[in-house]
Amino acid sequence: MPVTLEGMFRRARVLTTIAVASIILGSTVACAALHTVGSPSSPSPVITPSVTPTPTPTPVPTAPQFNKNAKSITDPNSIWVVVNKLRPLNPKTYSPPDIVTVPVAHNNPAQMRKVAADALVAMFAAGKNAGAGSMQVQSSWRPYSTQVSVYNGWVASLGKQQADRQSARPGYSEHQTGLAVDISPVPLRCALAACFGTTSQGKWLAANAWKYGYLLRYPADKTKITGYEYEPWHFRYIGVALSTEMHKEGVKTLEEFFGLPAAPDYAK
Ligand SMILES: [Zn+2]
Repeated sequence: MPVTLEGMFRRARVLTTIAVASIILGSTVACAALHTVGSPSSPSPVITPSVTPTPTPTPVPTAPQFNKNAKSITDPNSIWVVVNKLRPLNPKTYSPPDIVTVPVAHNNPAQMRKVAADALVAMFAAGKNAGAGSMQVQSSWRPYSTQVSVYNGWVASLGKQQADRQSARPGYSEHQTGLAVDISPVPLRCALAACFGTTSQGKWLAANAWKYGYLLRYPADKTKITGYEYEPWHFRYIGVALSTEMHKEGVKTLEEFFGLPAAPDYAK
């Protein structure tokens, strides 16, 4: 078969094409190899099985449980301290650390612990604004030494049995904590008398004192638990958190609220 010039050219073109194609192909493979080798192997895609999402339950709003152990009922410095005829202050000679003069009307010196004093100022102002009339402090903080002379005076004139009915023994009075106050109206009437409960001031306090952290400590129907006759004038500062909870639960005495034994009388 005669080899023509044209045939030779055609063959050369074909060979060139193959060669060029080989070079391109080869370098591409090499490049691909270079890219693959040494680069971190990409994680194989994890196939997550499709799960029907659990609907998040709508939380039912529940009020946080009141913590009855949040403060001590034994430490005399605690605003929750429970003092009664079975629970004297410890020590009996206890004196509060932060007694201040309460800037309110008073028939006797108005001195209480700072938190109780501030709350009393706010309560008196609120009562007046509400139309209940003006109030004043009849008796507030009484130090141990004062209670000693008051109690001994009653014992001397009435005997121990009768003295215990109307005056707390030294170390057993809420007034010694600096958190208790006896309130009377301005102008003065029904001072330290049951009729205070029928005055506009007495009625307003009975209904609203809890809003200011105060508790009507000796209600008429709780004498056997508190150990004291009805004293509509005697209020005890316990803080707004506790007074609000007691109001909400409808519990009237600290003894019942904290599950303490009734304290009708001193231990024999
Ligand atoms: Zn009192």
